[in-house]
Amino acid sequence: MTLANKTALITGSTSGIGLAIARAMAREGANVVLNGFGDPAAIEAERAGIEAEFGVKASYDGADMTDGAAIAAMIAAAEARFGGVDILINNAGIQHVAPVDEFPVDKWNQILAINLSSAFHAMRAAIPGMKARQWGRIISTASAHSLVASPFKSAYVAAKHGLVGLTKTAALEVAASKITVNCISPGYVWTPLVEKQIPDTMAARGMTKEQVINDVLLAAQPTKQFVTSDQVAAMAVFLCSDAASQITGANLSMDGGWTAA
Ligand code: NAD
Repeated sequence: MTLANKTALITGSTSGIGLAIARAMAREGANVVLNGFGDPAAIEAERAGIEAEFGVKASYDGADMTDGAAIAAMIAAAEARFGGVDILINNAGIQHVAPVDEFPVDKWNQILAINLSSAFHAMRAAIPGMKARQWGRIISTASAHSLVASPFKSAYVAAKHGLVGLTKTAALEVAASKITVNCISPGYVWTPLVEKQIPDTMAARGMTKEQVINDVLLAAQPTKQFVTSDQVAAMAVFLCSDAASQITGANLSMDGGWTAA
């Protein structure tokens, strides 16, 4: 139980990677704040299940990551309930696939808001408490697309590159306060986000589902295997440990060798 008496707030944790990170934090003894959209009954079952399985406190906040004021209120509510947010995981993210000259403006704005600006708003609200307690971990789920581009993903690639810049800057600012700020950059992880973009990629590239999986998604990954959510979660837990106290401002790749090429 390395994270007993800590509180972890994970944005976008009703599904996929975020949910795996929340469960991994709870397994280590942290209280967790879940966030994200979904069926209320399913979210409540997940929240109650985490409390029962791991013996920690779990709450849920439905703040919309496009709303800076709601994000600040979510951090304040977590601090009021648990006494602080020690671990902030900026994980919420969406994707939209279209050529840049046809990219819907509302989708551009939404992706920049959810995948980048939400991390700014959450850091801005959580860092004062971390500084006061002289301990903190801020981890953002970036992507291999924080390092390299793929066609038709202009907003996502721009947001993820921006997230790395935000991470480096914040890391420098809080380095002397025992707060580390890092990105984890997975390659393709088999989650609803990946599954949902397959039809659009099929349409954009005129491919079958099998071709998208083998020739687009796993084409980039030399291991020819999807990363798992649990592997990303294990890296997040490691970054919260004392062994990782000197890792800050880093962008840690977990991409089966994709960005080595
Ligand atoms: P997912 O679709 O399974 O989960 C996304 C989560 O974000 C959900 O909980 C959803 O409800 C939440 N969310 C979406 N819009 C929101 C909003 N406006 N406000 C609050 N919550 C919102 O996706 P995932 O694959 O688990 O992705 C999680 C993160 O990992 C994203 O940032 C994504 O870019 C990144 N990532 C995913 C992969 C992959 O292959 N799946 C690879 C690299 C990076």
